[in-house]
Amino acid sequence: MERMGTMRPPRNNYVLVVLDSCRHDSFVKAHPGTMRKLGKIERRWSYASWTAPSHFNLLMGLMPHRSPKHVFASEYYKHEFLKFNDRLGSGGIEFRSFVPTLYLPQFLSGLGYRTHAMVSLPVINPRTILNSGFDSYKLMPKHNDMRAMVAEMKFSVERPAFYLLNVGETHYPYALPDEPPEDWPRISGVHGVFKHLDEQVVGGKLAGKKPRFFNIRQMETLRQRQIDAVRHVDRVVKELFDLVPKNTYITITSDHGELFGEDGYFGHGPIHHEKVWEVPFVEGKLR
Ligand SMILES: [Zn+2]
Repeated sequence: MERMGTMRPPRNNYVLVVLDSCRHDSFVKAHPGTMRKLGKIERRWSYASWTAPSHFNLLMGLMPHRSPKHVFASEYYKHEFLKFNDRLGSGGIEFRSFVPTLYLPQFLSGLGYRTHAMVSLPVINPRTILNSGFDSYKLMPKHNDMRAMVAEMKFSVERPAFYLLNVGETHYPYALPDEPPEDWPRISGVHGVFKHLDEQVVGGKLAGKKPRFFNIRQMETLRQRQIDAVRHVDRVVKELFDLVPKNTYITITSDHGELFGEDGYFGHGPIHHEKVWEVPFVEGKLR
């Protein structure tokens, strides 16, 4: 603790909720009355266009950015880092206490936190490099059940807790946990991308027919499903708010946006388009 200087020890639990693929405008359209209680809903920009690098960035403590003009990046990072004094209910956090790992779970562990991750997307499963410095890291059995995560959260007065929740309801196919999989929308070429990658390569070349791309009506249905998923998540967040102790600071954001047909794009990942960077951001302490 010698390196912490005059730091005041943290008093808050910290919960970081990442609504996977949730676009800023889907979030706003859903009017999430519970989540907005945390503070002003901001439109921010993700550092990456898909799940893994974006979560790495979040776990470096860099939340989606504001794209500030006339400011050096180093100044912005400093400002961002100081924000952890509010988030952790601490004072005098120094950036040097964050190096050399530059990784939130390790930094928080050093401050006495229990550190936990519950994730929905297999691409950030516990065997990936992201799982470093966590006391527990779990890939949830269902990709779309935030309620199951809330049920496993525990808080104690002895030690503050950090939780990363990667929430999958807002990810394609934007299905709620009680919706039977046979009712989910199916877009050929999107399902099980990594799982089926090798099956489509024969003799080093891509085999099989190229799947037909989307139509606009399908895209509108999918967009509406994401908005409905945010409404559902808002109800689960109410249960989270009821569960957490008073001294809990919560950040809710997304890892990247999603394209619903704009300029010929669907989804996220290998896409350079404004809508893949736009994410919602809201944070604060409830009481
Ligand atoms: Zn994602």
